[in-house]
Amino acid sequence: MELTNDLYEVLFESIQEGLILVNGKGVIVQNNRTAEELFGYDEGEMIGLRIEKLVPKKYREGHTDHRERYTKNPEKRSMGSMLKLSGERKDGSVFPVEVSLNPLLKEGREKYVVALVSDVSIRRKAEEELEKLTESLEQKVKERTIELRESEQLYKSISRNFPGGVISIFDRSFKYLFAEGQGLFDLGIETEDLIGLDYLDRIVPEARDHVKSELEHVFNGELRNFEVEVGSRTYLLNAVPLANENGEIDRILVVEKNVTDRKKMERTLESNLEKERELNEMKSRFVSMASHEFRTPLTTINSSAGLILRYNEKNDSEKIEKHILRIKNSVRNLTSILNDFLSLEKLESGKIETVLSQCDLVIIIKEIIEELEDIKKQGQEFICNCPSQIILQSDPQLLKNIILNLLSNAIKYSNVNGKIELSVIENDALVELSVKDDGIGIPEKDQKRMFDRFFRAGNVTNIEGTGLGLNIVNRYIKLLDGEISFTSEEGVGTTFFIKLPKK
Ligand code: ATP
Ligand code: MG
Repeated sequence: MELTNDLYEVLFESIQEGLILVNGKGVIVQNNRTAEELFGYDEGEMIGLRIEKLVPKKYREGHTDHRERYTKNPEKRSMGSMLKLSGERKDGSVFPVEVSLNPLLKEGREKYVVALVSDVSIRRKAEEELEKLTESLEQKVKERTIELRESEQLYKSISRNFPGGVISIFDRSFKYLFAEGQGLFDLGIETEDLIGLDYLDRIVPEARDHVKSELEHVFNGELRNFEVEVGSRTYLLNAVPLANENGEIDRILVVEKNVTDRKKMERTLESNLEKERELNEMKSRFVSMASHEFRTPLTTINSSAGLILRYNEKNDSEKIEKHILRIKNSVRNLTSILNDFLSLEKLESGKIETVLSQCDLVIIIKEIIEELEDIKKQGQEFICNCPSQIILQSDPQLLKNIILNLLSNAIKYSNVNGKIELSVIENDALVELSVKDDGIGIPEKDQKRMFDRFFRAGNVTNIEGTGLGLNIVNRYIKLLDGEISFTSEEGVGTTFFIKLPKK
């Protein structure tokens, strides 16, 4: 029994909390030293005090009611759980407390309550600070959210107004994560309509593989700029990789811009430049060609004129006639070169227009053959297989030029004693004409360039010519809605074919 009392004494004094034993009337009957220290009383001074003395004045009345209710129906609990309780010291100062109540029946009758009281100022202060901190954190989060929303809004409005294009973000499976831009707006597409859809599905099938392979490079960390043609439109795509916080590229940003108008302008500029370049090239070629091609006939004219003077003294009319003929040929040669060049200039600038009339092709052919009598090489023979009359609606001037060119080539590129065969057939709609020679032919490798301006085959370097004739012929034939083709074998001969509509 003694031991129990001692044990009780030790426990009483050694517990951390202030311990106060209160009887059923609310009077303190016992307390430990800690309780006195907490409330600022001297030893033994608290005994006999009403418990309300320890409650701050403004709560005292309420406390008495609570206490009486508790005494009637006591239970072990912490007091005012969830409430912030305070105690009042002897000197009237107030401090935060935590109280737990334990009902106790002493000597079988009287009801007592053991109150365990601890000073929680430090904890309360910490709690308050934590609260403040939480509050300021919450405030910061709120502000940050507003800022984020604002910057998101800013990005959105920047992207939405991106002129003539679309800014998109895709994941690795090319699904839309983001899309904005005037380009969408113009198509009446809302961003929300695209999110989660497959970008590649929106690309025309013929461009899909190209776009996919380019964008796959971007997922490998490369930047890509490329153009995509969709029908008559051209799009420029700039794509950059986007890395997450681990440095892995899990998204790509693609800026798509419609550059059709710019492209068109570039093309026009390019073709104008090309035309200009061609014209310049043509002019410089003409200068070098003219200085070369004019030299021979001019030398001939010069020497023949000198010889005529000499033969005149001797009265040798036969020789004089021969040299006059030479001069005439040379002049014709010069005229034809100049004519070719003029035709070319006119064709180039679109100044040549067809003048259609009813004409007889056979008459035109006869005229040409007569004109060519002087130029024919020795022993060369024209064979003409044509009906007595072929009437068609065409431009006689152009027709004459075409046939003259083909026949003079046949003369020029075949040997003495060669046969030149001219055949014409007709049906209701067409006239088909061919010029066949047994001359030097055209090397196969040169055949595809025969109609190019200034082009001359590799086997004619020793024969005079400018390489303009066939180019002009080809263009004239086009003006007359006709067709031209040829077959040729080097060393065997060449045949040119022409088809012309009758109307
Ligand atoms: P020109 O402008 O004085 O007519 P050219 O005869 O050289 O000069 P084209 O008539 O355009 O020019 O002919 C181009 C080239 O085609 C010739 O240089 C020649 O190589 C080839 N060619 C044309 N006709 C024949 C032909 N009948 N046989 C062989 N080669 C030919
Ligand atoms: Mg020619």
